[in-house]
Amino acid sequence: MPAIPTMLTTPTMPTTPANLANRQPVPSSMHAQITAWFELPLLDLLLQAQLTHRQHFAANTVQISTLLSIKTGNCPEDCGYCSQSGHYRKETGLQAEKRLAVDKVIAAAKQAKASGSSRFCMGAAWKHPSDKDMPYVAELVNAVKALGLETCMTLGSLTPHQATQLAEAGLDYYNHNLDTSRRYYDQVVTTRSYDERLQTIAHVRASGIKVCSGSIVGMGERRDDRIDWIYELTQMATPPESIPVNLLVPIKGTPLGDKALNDGALSVLEWIRTIAVTRLACPSSHVRLSAGRESLSDSEQALAFMAGANSFFYGDKLLTTGNASQSNDNRLMQELGLVASIAPTAPSGCGTASRDN
Ligand code: SF4
Repeated sequence: MPAIPTMLTTPTMPTTPANLANRQPVPSSMHAQITAWFELPLLDLLLQAQLTHRQHFAANTVQISTLLSIKTGNCPEDCGYCSQSGHYRKETGLQAEKRLAVDKVIAAAKQAKASGSSRFCMGAAWKHPSDKDMPYVAELVNAVKALGLETCMTLGSLTPHQATQLAEAGLDYYNHNLDTSRRYYDQVVTTRSYDERLQTIAHVRASGIKVCSGSIVGMGERRDDRIDWIYELTQMATPPESIPVNLLVPIKGTPLGDKALNDGALSVLEWIRTIAVTRLACPSSHVRLSAGRESLSDSEQALAFMAGANSFFYGDKLLTTGNASQSNDNRLMQELGLVASIAPTAPSGCGTASRDN
């Protein structure tokens, strides 16, 4: 039987918010601070993350979005985790589809609103939208906003002009994930660079659209990569308002899915730890549970909310991967005493206390 860890020193004071803060190592930089948070005992980290969360958001309140794929499959990018990449279509067998008709998107948005979502996110498997796609996506933004929903899109890279067009159409959020650290990025995707990713985020920010940008953990990266990804967020002039922390859903036939299936999945507690550190580093951002949630137990999801997550996706599907069922989500929210917020209210901010310049 493994030995139960015991205290080697005399008992410490009870852990209260005040003496918890006193136990923090003095950070020499934001990067050191993020590293120190990762190294905290898990329960100290969770407590600190939840206390920080409550300073910036209403307790027990979560923002709910619904995600719809408006153009599925045969993407020219080679993201190693994604079934929609054209590079792995023989292995995954995913059937590509044309753009979804506007009336179908509107019907899905109405259903999302009736279910309690406040934001409707639309994703297209493109490297970037073409000029002929822009009237289509602008029409979708208009139609979904007319239903009283916030809109979010993820369409790949954008030029400054395209970002402006989306802003003029009224788009509220644009999703563009950094996925991981700069160091590990070429193990994840080779058809675009980290700097191109940051450039599109900058165009989105300059256009006035709010930024949603997150990561996927469990792709074979090290903790250092998770630290560096969070650090990258804290160094943005205005950090993302929304930060999804995905847990890899390993898809057979994709390079990173096969790697995870061979090597074993990342510990769920390390994913929860990543959520908690994201909450501490970006106290005013919405931290979102996204892919990977369907495989988690109620208790694991409860811990993720304790760690400061305050947003998730409703619906049985996330683009092409499964999601927790809506009826199960409703039951879990009731059991945990969580209520849905209508729309985000807090201003965004990551690491505002000690941004490294
Ligand atoms: S994650 Fe997006 S950009 Fe990458 S292959 Fe999939 S659909 Fe294309």
